[in-house]
Amino acid sequence: MCGCALLLQFPEILSLNVGGTFFTTRLSTLRRHEDTMLAAMFSGRYHIPQDADGRYFIDRDGHYFGDILNFLREGELPPQELIRAVHREAQYYSIGPLLEQLEDMQPLTGEKVRQAFLDLLPYYRDNLERIVEIAKLRAMQKKARFAKLKICVYKEEMPITPYERPLFNSLRFERSDSEAKLFEHHCEVDVSFGPWEAVADVYDLLHCIVSDLAERGISAEQQCIGVCDKHLINHYYCKRPIYEFKITWW
Ligand SMILES: [Zn+2]
Repeated sequence: MCGCALLLQFPEILSLNVGGTFFTTRLSTLRRHEDTMLAAMFSGRYHIPQDADGRYFIDRDGHYFGDILNFLREGELPPQELIRAVHREAQYYSIGPLLEQLEDMQPLTGEKVRQAFLDLLPYYRDNLERIVEIAKLRAMQKKARFAKLKICVYKEEMPITPYERPLFNSLRFERSDSEAKLFEHHCEVDVSFGPWEAVADVYDLLHCIVSDLAERGISAEQQCIGVCDKHLINHYYCKRPIYEFKITWW
């Protein structure tokens, strides 16, 4: 907007209507941190609609707006059980200093640490969607309460049998491209996760899958039902562990 345009004036004490919930605050509170959406909204450069009683209207659920105001007023942080919800609001109003502090608190720090591992598996989210989709279709087709899926989760390939080179069995096995072709194979499962290079192991990934499904209200149990016994070449068998997931819908 042109710098010579007249700025709109706001009273020092403002009445706000955030999605039907009323708040009263100082203009200086809303402008506390530059580069936030609230500071921009109430900078005078934008017209803010008012409700029938003259309160400035923000079309957003007002549930956590009080927590946002308390942070702007005196840096107060929300109680732990609200951190996730207030973080979403802080993202909407783009309040950088609040976002930073919340991300250093649980459970958000833990999620960040976990995400650093899951970033090694770029297909993770898509695979999760596939699990949900297959489990839904399978249960509907069979008119069943639950569906079972076979899921392969392997951290690394283990193509060398212990009989051949026992010392190498636990080490990473380097292969040339042509050798890799020989081992290329898709296990007969619904979804496959792996390989990855990290300290986190198969059980950690299983934990991610089950807890992410639980987060979506989907209850899943898993158990190992063996390894893929597909013969690849010579003495090499696939041997990737296969887990059966039971997803119960109702
Ligand atoms: Zn296999």
